[in-house]
Amino acid sequence: MKASETSGLNYRGRFAPSPTGVLHFGSLVAAVGSYLEARAAGGEWLLRIEDVDEPRTAAGAADSILRTLERMGFAWDGEVVFQSRRTGRYRAAFERLRLSAAVFACACSRREVADSGLGTDGAPRYPGTCRDGLPPARAARAWRLKVEPGRVCFEDVLQGRICQDLATEVGDFVVLRADGFFAYQLAVVVDDAEQGVTHIVRGADLIDSTPRQIYLQRQLGLPQPTYLHLPAVVNALGEKLSKQTRAQPIDEHRPQASLTAALEFLGQAPPDGLAEAGLEDVWHWAIAHWQRQHLPRCRIAPAPAGW
Ligand SMILES: [Zn+2]
Repeated sequence: MKASETSGLNYRGRFAPSPTGVLHFGSLVAAVGSYLEARAAGGEWLLRIEDVDEPRTAAGAADSILRTLERMGFAWDGEVVFQSRRTGRYRAAFERLRLSAAVFACACSRREVADSGLGTDGAPRYPGTCRDGLPPARAARAWRLKVEPGRVCFEDVLQGRICQDLATEVGDFVVLRADGFFAYQLAVVVDDAEQGVTHIVRGADLIDSTPRQIYLQRQLGLPQPTYLHLPAVVNALGEKLSKQTRAQPIDEHRPQASLTAALEFLGQAPPDGLAEAGLEDVWHWAIAHWQRQHLPRCRIAPAPAGW
């Protein structure tokens, strides 16, 4: 990375949790990693609640996440942004795609797409059924972005060069869903550009989404941020920590212990006794001693015992 990319004014990071449940160790790791990358560079750190998928949003989860982050001593820049209040911006981006014929209406049901085969990430790959027009007597359900053949590649700061052929591995993907909500991929791209985010640090469970987001950035003429994908935290069964896998909430009454465990997971070797130090001292140490080169380069890693 060039020095100019890490100087403070040129670094704006963000943490963007989905309020589907409590803040667990996996999301804490992403929060700590993105925060320390930003602060160590003298940059800004924004907070965005990714509640664009309203049917999956859990009541009270956003408030609970914000409260936990605050009690843990995270200090974000500017107002918290909620995707559920930004539908107009997503619609404007969608209209631009529609006017340039980059998207098409799709009548296929979930079952019809599922029956057509799987892409690399295990999700159904769209076979292109409605690409050249809706089949007779079928109504539009969702809108999909046309993807052209060819690999989309990017240099991940931690994971190295990542390439994906969207046409063969994903297929034309949904940007406006059958239930009327805009897709996560579109919302993220619009928000990161509008908020001026330059550096995205997040869990590697999202790395398969990144080529789709880069493709959308190119279609919309938006700048491409720098990406760093941290190892995603998995439980003893190898499952990603989530509400579905019953991940434990972070104990906000013991923030130092939680932060120290996250620092250890991120390869930062906190000194003995840091878990008992004052919260400000923990953050002071963490920012002053942040060593990106010590981050583990794997895509998944197990949670430490007890987390
Ligand atoms: Zn279709």
